[in-house]
This record gives sequence, structure tokens and C-alpha cells, in this order.
Amino acid sequence: MKKAFLSLLLVLLVPVLSPGWGFFAHRTITQVAVYALPSSMQAFYFRHMAQLVKLSTAPDERRNDDPTEETKHFIDMDHFGDNPFGLMPKAYEKAVAKYTADTLKKYGTVPWTILEVKDKLTQAFKEGDTTAIIALSADLDHYVADAFVPLHTTENYDGQLTKQNGIHSLWESKLPEMFISQYKLDCEKAEYVKDPEATIWRVVQDSYGFLGATFDIEAALSKNFTTEKKYTFSHKYGKTRRSYSDAFAKAYFGNGSSGVGGHVAYRLKGAPTMVASMWYTAWKDAGSPDLNKLMHPNKLSKDEKEQFDAQLAAWKKNELVDQNLLLAMQKQEAEAAPDAVGSAADAAPAPAAPAAEATPKADAAQPAKVKTKEKKEDGGKQKEKVKKKDDAKKKDANTPFGD
Ligand SMILES: [Zn+2]
Repeated sequence: MKKAFLSLLLVLLVPVLSPGWGFFAHRTITQVAVYALPSSMQAFYFRHMAQLVKLSTAPDERRNDDPTEETKHFIDMDHFGDNPFGLMPKAYEKAVAKYTADTLKKYGTVPWTILEVKDKLTQAFKEGDTTAIIALSADLDHYVADAFVPLHTTENYDGQLTKQNGIHSLWESKLPEMFISQYKLDCEKAEYVKDPEATIWRVVQDSYGFLGATFDIEAALSKNFTTEKKYTFSHKYGKTRRSYSDAFAKAYFGNGSSGVGGHVAYRLKGAPTMVASMWYTAWKDAGSPDLNKLMHPNKLSKDEKEQFDAQLAAWKKNELVDQNLLLAMQKQEAEAAPDAVGSAADAAPAPAAPAAEATPKADAAQPAKVKTKEKKEDGGKQKEKVKKKDDAKKKDANTPFGD
């Protein structure tokens, strides 16, 4: 009896881990972002699209190996008071002067990480370093997308402070994956971002604005669900994991006008638009270099062109899923053509690691960790490392997302 009780307790304490906008959403956002680019950039990005899609989750994957990675994916704004956006200086130096670099690191740095990576991407464009352009575009893509997730802006990143554990994964992984066919995968055209700092802070603040509903709707629906109906339990690596049931996810998703599905759709549309705009801005700031010169051969082949046109046509009709053209839904092997980058020829030595890890660690990947927000992602395997990272406040691996 006691044992059974303990087991139950264990179940409740081991949340399901999942990646941050889950891997699925990150990959989808990446693909759609390519379609939002101006034609002067599109051929190059399309040539490398499979690679970009694959690398779009690399930042989550390297969290396990790089202790500095974790806090780049979120910012726990509620740590900074009731009016955090009024109090927090937007410029990093001023924020450090007010709160210290250690504090910022602890509660997340996603807005500044985005600005930093954008500047590095600009430099890579200036140098015509194809490998770096791809890796940094993927990184920028990842962090920008993370900033669109409401639960990446709160200390209660997985509902762990309000007994809503697992909500992170529900929002950013389960809803996108379960209802992909109901989302319209569109976005706006990329635009030059005149003030990246102000823009990215606006994104974070918008995400923060969704937090109330994110938690409140879960709480309201929970009144109508028994524990058995609300959760599903799975067993892996000797542990029992708990996650929200499909029935609960369906109710949480709502019908489009009410429910969280509309919020996810809104952020899923805004993210690729901003990703493409940030890529475009970095390219413009580098002097709009001719990307065709980095391609070998220097323009899309007839086949590539046909594929691209077919994708664009399907995308415009919102049929990427129906026509099986969404890379996130295809097998990993089909993704990245490893030679893609090589063919690009240019010189550039690659940027460290990201590409390497591109390997799909399926679920694993992500990181987990951290305290505040989502840092968690995935799965079990990482848990050990995660714990390591946790410092006092971080809780452990709870939730995963990541992001
Ligand atoms: Zn992330």
C-alpha cells in the first residue's frame, strides 16, 4: 500500500519531458520562414533548407554539453517584479548595471542572445562564410522562435508553481503536433527590422501577455476532468511519466475562437515572420551580398526550382501537410543533405558545433534544465545532466520543453 502510494507520488513528480517549441514546431517554423524571404535570399535558403530545418533544434540539443547554453532560450520576466517590462532596461549593459550579469544569466537572456546571434550572422554574411551563415541562421531562428512561446517568459515555465506541471509541453509540443492540420502555416513577408532591440522585446512582452490565459484556461478546464481523463501515463526507462491526455489537449486547444489553439496559431505565424525578418535584416546590414555567389552551382537547378515552386504553391494553399511537404513530418534521413553545405563552397570553416549535433536525437535532445523556464526539454536521457546544471533554484528536469 505504502509502496503503491510511493509509486503514485513518483508518477506525479516525473513530468514528461519535451522539447521546446517542440522540435516539430521549430522545424516547421524554419521551413515556413524560408518562404517568407525576399527572392534575393530565397534560392540560397531553399538550397540549404533541409540543413536549416535540421539545425533549428541544435541549440536545444547542445544544452546537454554546453553549460552556457541553457539560459539563452528564455527570460523569466516575472522574476523582475509586477511591471517587469517597465523596470527592465532593454539594453544589455544597462540591464547588467541594474541586475548584474549573473542574475540575468540565471533568469534568462533570450532577447540579448537573439541580438548577439543576429550580429554574428551579419558578420558571416560579410565574410561570405556559408557554413557559418547556415549555422547562425539556424541558431537565430531557434532563439527567435523560443521568444514567441509564452512559457519561456515566466519562472512558472512548466506550471510547476501552480500544480500545472506539463503545461509547457502541452502548449508548445502537443498542441502543434496534434493539430498541425488545423493550423494555417502562413506568415507575413520578411521586413527589415529597424530597431531589433525594441522589436524583440515587443515579442517577449507579447508572449508574456498570453501567460494569464495559458494558465487560467488550463485551470478552468481541469475542473471538468478527473485525473484519469486529464493525464496519460507512460513508462520508459523504469520511470512513469505523466502528460496531458489527448482529450484534455483537445479541450485546451478549443475551437479557434476560444481556447489556447488560437494563441498557439498566432505565435506559430508570428515566429517565422520574425525569423525571416531577422535573417533579412542581418543580410541587409551586411550590405546585401549576392548569395548566389555562395551557391555551387550558383542557382537552383531545374529540379530544385520545381520542388521549390511546388512547395510554395502548396504552402500558399496551406497544403504542405496534405502533400507531405512539411519537412518536420518527414523522416530524419530525408532531411539534411550533408553535402549541401559542402557544396557551398566557400571557404568558411564551420562554426563549431551545431551542425554536428544536428543529429536528431529524437526525443532526447533537449535540455532540460533549468530553472526557470523551459529549459527543459526533453527527455529522460538528459536528466542527469540537467540536474547537474540546476542550481538551487532550478528545479530539475521537470518539464521539458525547451526551448
Ligand atoms: Zn530552445
